[in-house]
Amino acid sequence: MVDIELMLSALWKRLPMRARERWTRQHLEAYQARELRALRDYACAHSPFYREFHKGLYEAPLQNLPILTKSILMDHFDDLATDRAIHLGEVKAYIEDRRGDERFLGRYWVNSTSGTSGHPGLFVVNRDEWSMELATAIRAFESAGLKLNLARRTRIAQITSTNPSHLSMQGGRDMANWWMPTLLMAASEPLASMVERLNAWRPEMLWAYASIIHLLADEQIAGRLKIAPRTVLSASELLTQGIRRRAVAAWGDVVFDTYATTDCGGIGAECDQHRGMHLQEDVSIIEVVDRDNQPVEPGVFGDKLLVTVLGSRTLPLIRYELEDSVRLARSMCPCGRPFRLIDAVRGRVEESLSFPAAAGGVVTVHPIVFSNIMDTLPVSGWQVLQDADGLHVLLCGVSGALDEEKLARSVRDALKSQGVANPVVEIEWVPSIPQTTAGKTPLVRSDLNGIEFRGISDALSRPPEAPIAGGPHAN
Ligand SMILES: [Zn+2]
Repeated sequence: MVDIELMLSALWKRLPMRARERWTRQHLEAYQARELRALRDYACAHSPFYREFHKGLYEAPLQNLPILTKSILMDHFDDLATDRAIHLGEVKAYIEDRRGDERFLGRYWVNSTSGTSGHPGLFVVNRDEWSMELATAIRAFESAGLKLNLARRTRIAQITSTNPSHLSMQGGRDMANWWMPTLLMAASEPLASMVERLNAWRPEMLWAYASIIHLLADEQIAGRLKIAPRTVLSASELLTQGIRRRAVAAWGDVVFDTYATTDCGGIGAECDQHRGMHLQEDVSIIEVVDRDNQPVEPGVFGDKLLVTVLGSRTLPLIRYELEDSVRLARSMCPCGRPFRLIDAVRGRVEESLSFPAAAGGVVTVHPIVFSNIMDTLPVSGWQVLQDADGLHVLLCGVSGALDEEKLARSVRDALKSQGVANPVVEIEWVPSIPQTTAGKTPLVRSDLNGIEFRGISDALSRPPEAPIAGGPHAN
């Protein structure tokens, strides 16, 4: 059932957000300071956890406040919440038994992250916070050139999870009533049928996992798919340069990446200048830091992000740690928005592969190390799979000459240059890249510890083992 009031509230919130896109940096920073003060005051007044956590730090700048990790949040859940009626046990029970549109305590949306990091997280938001998350999703669409309002309908094709209780399917269905007409397809649907339905549908916007965009771009180039979307939005998984190039070859300069997390909502959105993703800095204060939580200069990759969600009230998030490795651009975007740009993403630290290091200990290798090599190959799909035997490079759909021995050598050399001891690499051909139960085809996955790489721009995706309640902009 569509919640018109919620959608209107999200659209209403978009108006001041649009105005802030024309602010100066100075104006934005003054706004951030005011909103931050209000958040900190609220947290200390209503959350017993924050009263202790920030004790004696009332006047301290944000950079001196302690880091909130997901495990600290989960360990102090009841105390951290600002509503004394919220108890972790009941939130968990709600997630397990939830039926239909019923809200937790009649008024809260609950989102959960998967356990890939070893710490599944639960995030509770009220109606106001949730409509704000929807507004950040609308902003991501709008910066990608879609003009959304109640009078203008856009034909959307959304290709996401296979799980009917999955957030994306539910959120998509809700929005279908609003932005009619929307074609929803599961990522696990056979490619030929996907192509046929898309040809019949002629979507103005294609919204899909990066790996699906890759497959469909190849179909378009081969002449079997014949659509002309004005916008192609990568909603999940790492959008590599290779996939982007192929999508641009297929449809033109209409490819946009997005970055959102279940924990913190919408974080980044690409504008039509394609210089990277703008941080939504009027919604969150985002610090790019190294392992020791020290700020990292623009132009250098950080090890994680610390996110302060300015509008968070139910579970205030102040310097909340996200293990995403991103790089801030050295310059501002020519579009004039006052928001800084992320110009490169390496993927999640927690989702990288670990190897024994030549120098002893363990070395972590980011997914981008592989995509730099694999993106140049004449294949329609690839996946790097780590198991007890070493690395298996899975390839499918070859469309040109490929020297397997040379490829294995390049991967080994790249790993050695990262400090990996004696990497074992095998090339294997498969009919298609195996999908996860969520219908994704991650570029990198490990069978060693059950950890699977999930891309960074996880808007609208969620593994099926993590039941959810919520809308269209969380993973
Ligand atoms: Zn821009």
